[in-house]
Amino acid sequence: MSYVIPAPRQAVVPVHGGGEFPVHRIYCVGRNYAEHAKEMGHSGREAPFFFMKPADAVLPVAEGATGEMAYPPLTNDLHHEIELVVALGSGGRDIAVEDAVKHIWGYAVGLDMTRRDLQGEMKKQGRPWSIGKGFEQSAPIGPLRAIATTGELSRGAITLSVNGQPRQRGDLSDLIWNVAETISTLSKAWTLQPGDLVFTGTPAGVGAVVRGDVMEGAIEGLGTLRVAVR
Ligand code: MN
Repeated sequence: MSYVIPAPRQAVVPVHGGGEFPVHRIYCVGRNYAEHAKEMGHSGREAPFFFMKPADAVLPVAEGATGEMAYPPLTNDLHHEIELVVALGSGGRDIAVEDAVKHIWGYAVGLDMTRRDLQGEMKKQGRPWSIGKGFEQSAPIGPLRAIATTGELSRGAITLSVNGQPRQRGDLSDLIWNVAETISTLSKAWTLQPGDLVFTGTPAGVGAVVRGDVMEGAIEGLGTLRVAVR
C-alpha cells in the first residue's frame, strides 16, 4: 500500500528528560472553573461539555525555550487560557472514575488559545466553535512530565502572566470536574486512545494578547511555558 499524497507529519509533544509523545486527539473541557464560568456569563455546576482541536494545532515548546506563535488571521481578540493538559498513555470506553488515573501518562502546561470574537459570534448564532478554537498553533504546550515522576496532580497553583503582569490565577483543586471525572465522562462519548490530550479548562482572568506580548504560564510541579506572540 502506498499513499497517493505525502503522509501528514505526526504531531508530537516533547517529553521532559527526552523523547516525544505522539498526539492522537485533543479534547478540551469548557468552563471547568467556577470563577471563569462566571466571567463568561454562566453560573452553577453544569454537566461537563467538550470541544476538540485538531492534533496538529499543537505548538510544541521545548524545555526552557520560548515558543513563537503567529498571530492568527480573522481576529482582533486573541485570548489566552492557561490549562493543565493531561496526556493519556492508554485508552478505552466507559472508564470508571476510580480507574481513570491509571490511563494518565503524564501532564503538561498548555494554552487553549482562542479567537474570542469568532467564538462569541458562533455562540450567538448557535454554530460550532471550531473557527474560534481549532486554528493552527492554537494549542501551545510545554514538555510532558510522566505521572511516574509527578504523582497524581489534584492541587497546586495554575497561573499566567503577560509581559510579567499577572492575569490568571487558580488552583487545580478548583476544577469543577476533576481529571478522573473528565476522563470517565469523555470515555462514554468517545473511545479514548493512547496519545489523546485533554485540556482540562482555564481559571478566571482570561484576556487578550497582541503581537509582541510574551505569555508565561505555570503549574506547580510542571514548570513554566513561555510563548511569544509574533
Ligand atoms: Mn479552554
